[in-house]
Amino acid sequence: MYPKYMMESIKMVEKTRPKRLELAKKLGKEVFPGMTEQERKEVLDKYHPDYQSDALRELRIGPNKGEKMVNEVVDIMESYPRNHPDTFDLDKIEIETDVLIIGAGSAGLSAAIEASNGGAEVTLVTKLRLGDSNSMMAQGGIQAADQLDDNPTLHYLDVIGGGHFDNKPELVEALVKDAAPSIKWLEDLGVMFDKNSDGSMMVKSGGGTCRNRMHSARDYTGAAICRVLRDEVQNRPEKINFIEYTSATELILDNKGNCAGAILYHMENKQFSIVKAKSVIIATGGFGRLHVRGFETTNHYGATADGLVMGYRAGAKLMYMDSVQYHPTGAVFPEQIVGFLCTEKIRGLGAQPVNKDGELFVYPLEPRDIEASAFIRECDKGLGVETPSGLRGIWLDSPLIELLVGEGTIERYLPAMLRQYKRFDIDITKYPMLVYPTLHYQNGGLEIDANAETSIPGLFVAGEASGGVHGRNRLMGNSQLDIVVFGRRAGTNAAAKVKKGVKLGKMSLKHVEDYIKEVDKLGIDKKKISPVILPDYIPDHVKAKQLATEYQGTLI
Ligand SMILES: Cc1cc2nc3c(=O)[nH]c(=O)nc-3n(C[C@H](O)[C@H](O)[C@H](O)COP(=O)(O)OP(=O)(O)OC[C@H]3O[C@@H](n4cnc5c(N)ncnc54)[C@H](O)[C@@H]3O)c2cc1C
Repeated sequence: MYPKYMMESIKMVEKTRPKRLELAKKLGKEVFPGMTEQERKEVLDKYHPDYQSDALRELRIGPNKGEKMVNEVVDIMESYPRNHPDTFDLDKIEIETDVLIIGAGSAGLSAAIEASNGGAEVTLVTKLRLGDSNSMMAQGGIQAADQLDDNPTLHYLDVIGGGHFDNKPELVEALVKDAAPSIKWLEDLGVMFDKNSDGSMMVKSGGGTCRNRMHSARDYTGAAICRVLRDEVQNRPEKINFIEYTSATELILDNKGNCAGAILYHMENKQFSIVKAKSVIIATGGFGRLHVRGFETTNHYGATADGLVMGYRAGAKLMYMDSVQYHPTGAVFPEQIVGFLCTEKIRGLGAQPVNKDGELFVYPLEPRDIEASAFIRECDKGLGVETPSGLRGIWLDSPLIELLVGEGTIERYLPAMLRQYKRFDIDITKYPMLVYPTLHYQNGGLEIDANAETSIPGLFVAGEASGGVHGRNRLMGNSQLDIVVFGRRAGTNAAAKVKKGVKLGKMSLKHVEDYIKEVDKLGIDKKKISPVILPDYIPDHVKAKQLATEYQGTLI
């Protein structure tokens, strides 16, 4: 339950609620004027974390040398490789496969299914368990223009506008054209989307979109999709060999510059091994666990940008690594779920963001970067609510949903959210949720073409690890779509390439040797190592004790 002092602020929210309800009944979502382009620019410049003067710095190494990126990305790119090439004998190949897929979220799983459909022998490796991923945690939904009042062109315009016109057009075209067929593909595999009583698809609105095109499965859409894809992969044991608790730590090229495999690290037995592959697909997801600018995150523990590091060292270019998506509504109370995502669907259903005095201060469904910046502005003005541990937040007035749409709506459409808060004795049908922006999504990533291939022959990238689809700001529901569209394209094209015939040359880690020389020149601390693999949350005083114990152990 909320502490007494927060209840005082909640009373203010309750006081303004009837008027705001009346407004919502009259005006729908337009309860507060949307920002003009000028106002958007001002709020971003002043409050968005990416726009702060110390947010970015120049990368001094590799294909994007000289470009500014967020500090935490520059740090991992300017780090030493986890494995020194000298310690590997590349003739000792432990696995040989047609297509190696790194990462088993929905992008990797979709790729595996299509690569096996294309007749390729597939090896899928993943850091944790099959499906442990951001994909599994997605809540709100997946976009597709499949309604009578909608079409791919409108979807295209929304994606480009939301991305600040920085998207790679051929990728957006692929995204919106493949959208409706992807929903059908998922449904045919067994995904149960929410339906209306007449059997038609139920669609809701999302921030920055001109039509209702969000398909969902309650508020656990990601799990509904990812579990079906995982089952499908598990049902093809003769075609897809999956290996859990195994992280790729470096890509291997051949002497002609083709991607030829990877070094794998088994996280339980701590052994490295070599895999040779005719095509490789990076589907390692995003970077939330780098905690850019100290932000909490919605992301799962394995989201440490490993694919970016491996791809970049091999020579693939990055796009838009100066741009991070902070989701406006991350939980800040109770402490146990700080950073946890409170889906945009909550606002889509009618919940309004209000300050500590219960006043509306922003249009509820601005694109995420604008909405998040407006939340930060409100808190900077001193109009947020402070938590007992000193975090700040604004209220998301969820009880409005029931008043607007009817009793039982939250239980029906947001059952996971209702249950999550009930664990802490907060009933979101009666009390608002305290939220603040949380690090949610990596807008940029490795550059691909519409076939999901990089500039390195045989290296494909799909999902959040890729860049260019969403420009510098992704709209809700387009990532669940992206991972299926480009996961499938990567799988299909990787298999097709193998079928055409790939003749690999001698396996080589020369690109890693060259990279080390560059890092040496920068005088980087040798303890800085990437890929990160798992975030390190152990406090220094505990680490000191652990080292001491280990050392004594070796002495005895
Ligand atoms: C809480 C939450 C809610 C979201 N809700 C929505 C939504 O409603 N709609 C929407 O469109 N988007 C949503 N998103 C975003 C979207 O779900 C993700 O961007 C998308 O699922 C990413 O899929 P992916 O397959 O690229 O990566 P992931 O699903 O993160 O999968 C990456 C996989 O790679 C593995 N991996 C990482 N590094 C390595 C390595 N070195 N070796 C081997 N394996 C590795 C990981 O362990 C993981 O299994 C949400 C994200 C979060 C976190």
